Amino acid sequence: MVASISEALDIIYKNVTPLTTEIVPVELALGRVMAEDATATFDLPRFDNSAMDGYAVKYNDANTTVVCNEVIYAGDNPTMTLEPKTAIKIMTGAPIPKGCEAIVPIEHVSLEGNLISLSSFELHAHIRRAGEDVKSGTIYLEKGERVTAYSIALLVSQGVTHLTVYRKVKVAVFGTGDELRPHFEKIKPHQLYNSNTPMFLSRASELGCEIRYIPSSGDTIESLERTITSALDADIIITSGGVSVGDKDFTKEAFSNLGMKTYFNKIDIKPGKPTGFGKIGNTTVINLPGNPLASMVNYEIFIRAIIRKMSGVNAFYHGIIETEIKEDFRLRKGKYTVKLGSFDGKSFMPLEAQLPGMVSPMQKADGMIIIPPDVDTLQKGTKVKMLPILWELTSKVEEDLFSC
Ligand code: AMP
Ligand code: MG
Repeated sequence: MVASISEALDIIYKNVTPLTTEIVPVELALGRVMAEDATATFDLPRFDNSAMDGYAVKYNDANTTVVCNEVIYAGDNPTMTLEPKTAIKIMTGAPIPKGCEAIVPIEHVSLEGNLISLSSFELHAHIRRAGEDVKSGTIYLEKGERVTAYSIALLVSQGVTHLTVYRKVKVAVFGTGDELRPHFEKIKPHQLYNSNTPMFLSRASELGCEIRYIPSSGDTIESLERTITSALDADIIITSGGVSVGDKDFTKEAFSNLGMKTYFNKIDIKPGKPTGFGKIGNTTVINLPGNPLASMVNYEIFIRAIIRKMSGVNAFYHGIIETEIKEDFRLRKGKYTVKLGSFDGKSFMPLEAQLPGMVSPMQKADGMIIIPPDVDTLQKGTKVKMLPILWELTSKVEEDLFSC
């Protein structure tokens, strides 16, 4: 079945589900995805406190002189009550005393011995109220949110020590092709280093997965079946090569011999049409073509979608950046075409040289655009929608990904 780009993504979103969960210490939770809502068990701040270094005062004492004989520091647990015609010196973060109606910053008073001259100020000024940041009982981090340094600040402010998160996605990658050799071996002039496997593994790692490097398979059904079988404990198997119409393109046949259920086996996309997607048992399989740039383009569009959906994150759709073409650009029409390009924060420019078998353009690409079949010219200033590669921009709603 040939799926359109949108159909392929819909099939992925429908058939890939989040993994099981595990408990991790909060210090190790960075980048993980919350599997439960986090609900506040107490107010933040816990108690009314001063937002400034200043004086706790009565509202009616504005524009008078009051006497100050006491100080409250952060960490104190004051028991006194503020009386009219007096002030209590108070530091930022210290609990406000009973009877306090405002804090006047040190910079706003004039001082003579223990006499403080107050000018006018607002009722309740500079008092941080208990619960104004987070109210006890409210959800402060939702199931499906990714844990950032700032979520960790919130979690530990609530005294959370352990979290239930989704387990990391286990990704196994292998290449196929008798010409491939691993990069740590010497090769003959007619041979080729397998660059796809390290590339896909590095990207999966960047996307928060556990990774497993599986040696390349030869171009025989037996070798492929052996390699596939050795990878079946993964959540996702990613392969490259052997999916086209060559005499030794057996990848899909070997997977189907082992019981793979195929959801689509081609996509209406250039480059990367032979990309296929299916499942063997609980293992999700994606078969990419061998050409590095073609496989990378399909990885960024489809595998990123699979990894996100499986990771449990609730914003699993692609986010896009609306930008415009920097200079006139011509392309061949007739297919849904993906162009890698550079983005300078204002405009997008497709890379001049980008052929499916190339390696070097990938490293220069900040993002990509998807262009419908009827377009052969992108004029300077044309509005386009860029899928970022360097940033993990995601959305809770499905965006239209097509430019023009
Ligand atoms: P295939 O899809 O197997 O027909 O391969 C298409 C092209 O991609 C051929 O030129 C292969 O040599 C090349 N290729 C396949 N696999 C890899 C890989 N893992 N790393 C780099 N190039 C590859
Ligand atoms: Mg091949």
